[in-house]
Amino acid sequence: MSNLESRFLNACPAGCNAPLEATPYILPEGALLRCSACGQLVSQCTSARYWQSMQEFDDSQGTLPKAGSESSRSRRSRKFLDRIANLLGQPPGEIRLLDVGCSSGAFLNSAVKLGFCAEGVEPAPKAAAAAHAAGLKVRQGLLHEAGYADEQFDAITLFEVIEHLQQPQELLRECRRILRPGGILLIGTGNAGSWSMSAMGARWEYLHIEKHGGHVSFFNPGSIASLAQHTGFSVEAIHTRGVRFCEKGDCAGSVYRIAKLAGELVNLLAASLNKGHDMAVYLKKSGH
Ligand SMILES: [Zn+2]
Repeated sequence: MSNLESRFLNACPAGCNAPLEATPYILPEGALLRCSACGQLVSQCTSARYWQSMQEFDDSQGTLPKAGSESSRSRRSRKFLDRIANLLGQPPGEIRLLDVGCSSGAFLNSAVKLGFCAEGVEPAPKAAAAAHAAGLKVRQGLLHEAGYADEQFDAITLFEVIEHLQQPQELLRECRRILRPGGILLIGTGNAGSWSMSAMGARWEYLHIEKHGGHVSFFNPGSIASLAQHTGFSVEAIHTRGVRFCEKGDCAGSVYRIAKLAGELVNLLAASLNKGHDMAVYLKKSGH
């Protein structure tokens, strides 16, 4: 078959032993598939298309938003870092943190400024080189190639990473190995259980591989809890934010402005019900 390996298409990436079913959400790559147990959505894009789209996103700017949103981004980073320190009950100076998929190092930079002992690993060569040039401690390559020792980190962050992976369980198990007992894993990804997804379906830009290189796997609060359970983590907290009812350019300007206002009005309600489209999930390494 020309699609991703049948093993991938036949199994839920979150680890459920349940069949994947076709959904009415049609992308250029074919209908999105959905796990009948946890609701995880899976793209049918080909391996060739996947790797092509990943390469398009390797540049020194990384994959993060460009200028103009820096202060709100650093405020968000600070919130994530405060929550990590609170969950660990340790001051930043005592927290050894690894940012996996650190891109050009924006989050890492915030962590270092706040006093965390932070380093990163990034597979994209140009993004990793930019982070290194900014004076950050970064290894270029995939996490499992870095060969970190067992239990050497207190916290690991994964922003905009797991939606790119066909087999996220392997990455989470490697994170678990190098986290100390009780260590925190923070995952940032889109929420396919959001009101943005309910309103826009296949028009939701986040699902589009040409706009978001390599997005092939779409989580919701339930499927991420399933992934956590299958890889030795417990869920400490899930926060979501942001709602859009249509994408810019997808509807008339006046409709977009009204939809944007409506989105802002329901943001608080969405956050309280875990229906926002940006999801931050705090997991704790459980067990022995
Ligand atoms: Zn599932």
